[in-house]
Amino acid sequence: MEREVMEFDVVIVGGGPSGLSAAIRLKQLANEAGKNIEVCLIEKGSEIGAHILSGAVLEPRSLNELIPDWQERGAPLDTPVTADKFMFLTETGSFRMPTPPSMNNHGNYIISLGNFCRWLGEQAEALGVEIYPGFPAAEVLYDDQGRVKGVATGDMGIGKDGVPTDHYMRGMELHAKQTIFAEGCRGHLTKTLFEKFDLREGKDPQTFAIGIKELWDIDPEKAKPGLAWHSVGWPLASDTYGGSFLYHINGNQVAVGYVVGLDYSNPHLSPFEEFQRFKNHPAVRDTFVGGRRVSYGARALNEGGFQSVPKLTFPGGCLVGCTAGFLNVPKIKGTHTAMKSGMLAAEAIFEALDTMQAGDEPTSYANRLQDSWLWAELYKVRNIRPGFAKGLWLGLAYAAIDTYLFFGKAPWTLRHHADHEGLKLASEMPKIDYPKPDGIVSFDRNSSVFLSGTNHEENQPAHLTLKDASIPISHNLALYDAPEQRYCPAGVYEIVHNDDGSNPRLQINAQNCVHCKTCDIKDPSQNIVWVSPEGGGGPNYPNM
Ligand SMILES: Cc1cc2nc3c(=O)[nH]c(=O)nc-3n(C[C@H](O)[C@H](O)[C@H](O)COP(=O)(O)OP(=O)(O)OC[C@H]3O[C@@H](n4cnc5c(N)ncnc54)[C@H](O)[C@@H]3O)c2cc1C
Ligand code: SF4
Repeated sequence: MEREVMEFDVVIVGGGPSGLSAAIRLKQLANEAGKNIEVCLIEKGSEIGAHILSGAVLEPRSLNELIPDWQERGAPLDTPVTADKFMFLTETGSFRMPTPPSMNNHGNYIISLGNFCRWLGEQAEALGVEIYPGFPAAEVLYDDQGRVKGVATGDMGIGKDGVPTDHYMRGMELHAKQTIFAEGCRGHLTKTLFEKFDLREGKDPQTFAIGIKELWDIDPEKAKPGLAWHSVGWPLASDTYGGSFLYHINGNQVAVGYVVGLDYSNPHLSPFEEFQRFKNHPAVRDTFVGGRRVSYGARALNEGGFQSVPKLTFPGGCLVGCTAGFLNVPKIKGTHTAMKSGMLAAEAIFEALDTMQAGDEPTSYANRLQDSWLWAELYKVRNIRPGFAKGLWLGLAYAAIDTYLFFGKAPWTLRHHADHEGLKLASEMPKIDYPKPDGIVSFDRNSSVFLSGTNHEENQPAHLTLKDASIPISHNLALYDAPEQRYCPAGVYEIVHNDDGSNPRLQINAQNCVHCKTCDIKDPSQNIVWVSPEGGGGPNYPNM
C-alpha cells in the first residue's frame, strides 16, 4: 500500500519546548514578513505534554525573547521561586551547604513543563502551526541524493507477529524543504542521523542521567510554595553522580525527583530504589507523610554539554534542544536552552527559505548558535560535570575552583566517556540491599507505573528491540547480573526461569515503557534499540 504524502515548508519532529519554540518563531517571522509558510509539528504522545517530564524550574530568558507578553497570554508560570536550599545528606542527618551560583533560582519559576508545553502548543496553533499529536515519526526519508526530505509516521495496526491486523493503516509521508528534529534526549531518529551524516565525528560521547519524578499533593500545613530544595550525598555512594530535587508548587503540591548519572559503575544499583529510599530520609520523609502521590514518571537527560554537542545541521534539516544536547548540567536546566536553539534554528531556516532548495543544509543555524548567549553559557560550565568523574568530593572542589578561580575560562576542557562503558562486573561490586517499600512514602515499580497513565496497544511488535537476542543472558546476566532489571524505572525487563529455576530468559513487558530511553543508553553492549511504538502509546502525564 502506498503511503499518502503531505508537503510542507518545514516539518518539526517533537512537541517539547524546543520543537514548539521553533514552530512559533517560524510563524512569527512569516507573519511579520507577510508571508505564508506551512509548518507541521508531529508529536508521539497522545497530546502535547503527554510525554513531557521535567523538574521543573524554568529560567524565563528564552520565553521573554519568544513571547514577551507571556503573562497577559496566561502562561502557566504561577510559582516564582522564593527560596533555594542546597543540602548535603548523610544516612541519618543533613546540613545546608552554600547554594552554588548556578543553582540560584532568583527570577525563575517552578512549573509543570507538560502544562507549559500545552500552553506553547496553543500559542503555536493560534499562529497557524499544524500540530498532529499521536503520530510518532518512525523513519527518516531521504531523496535520491541522500538528503533528508522529511519523515514517515509509523504504520498502525501491525500485530505482535508483524502481520497487519484488521486495524491496519499505513503511515504517512511528511515532506518538507527542511525537517527539524526536536525529539528530546536520546532521540531515536536523531541516532540514525548521527550515523548517516557522521554528526558526532570529533565530538565527545554524549553522556546522560536518568531522572525519576513523582508529584505529590501534600498536607497544606507543610506547603512552602516557591521553595526549590536540592540535595547531594546519601543514598548514593560518593562515586556515583546524582542528587534530588523537591520543588514546592502553589496548590499544596511538591514535585520530587531523583537524578542518577548513567556513568555509574555498580550494576547492582537501581535508580528507582535509590529514589524510593531517599524519600525515607529524616529530612525528607515528613513532607510526604499525610500526603498523596498523584503521578510518577521518568526520563533521561543529557549531561555531556558543550563538548558533546554534535554537528547540528545536515542536508535537509537540523537538530534542536536535548536531542542535540544543550542542557546546562550545573543549573539542571535545559528548557531555556532547548527553546533558544529552536528559535535560532527557526531564524536560520526562515531567512533562507525563499532561496533554498529542498534538501539544502541550514548552515547559518550553527553560526547563529555559536554567536548566542546559549553557546557562551554552555562553554562556561563545560568542565563541571566531567570534574565529578573522580567522585563527589573532588567534583565539588573542582567545581569551586573552576567557577571562582577560573570563572569558567580554564585553559582546558575535560573529556567524557560513554556511559554504557562504565559498568563494572557484578562479581566485583557490592550488592545493595534496598529496603522494602513502606506504602506510605515509598512504593514498588508496578504501582508507580500505574500512576504514569502508561498505555500501549498490546498487539504490536515490541518497541524495545534487541540486535542480538542471546546477549541479555550470555553477556548481561552472566557478567552484570542483568542490570536492565534495575535501571529500567518501569519494570519492563524481567529475567524469568522455568519452575525449577533453569532456562533463564529475558521477558520484555513493553507495555509498561515510559519512554525514558535509559535502556537504549545504558545497555552495556548497546544491544537494546528503542524504536517508536504505535502512535499515542506511552505515558499520559497529566502535569509533569
Ligand atoms: C527529571 C528531570 C528534571 C529536569 N529539570 C529541569 C528543570 O528544573 N529546569 C529545566 O530547565 N530543565 C529541566 N530538565 C530538562 C528539560 O526537561 C529538557 O531540557 C527539555 O525538556 C528539553 O526539551 P526538548 O524539546 O529538547 O525535549 P523534550 O522536552 O524531551 O520533548 C521532546 C518531545 O518530542 C517527542 N518525540 C520524541 N521523539 C519523537 C518522534 N520520533 N516522533 C514524534 N514525537 C517525538 C516527545 O514525545 C516529546 O514530547 C529536566 C529533565 C528531567 C528529565
Ligand atoms: S524500557 Fe527502556 S525506555 Fe522504556 S521505561 Fe524501561 S528503560 Fe525506559
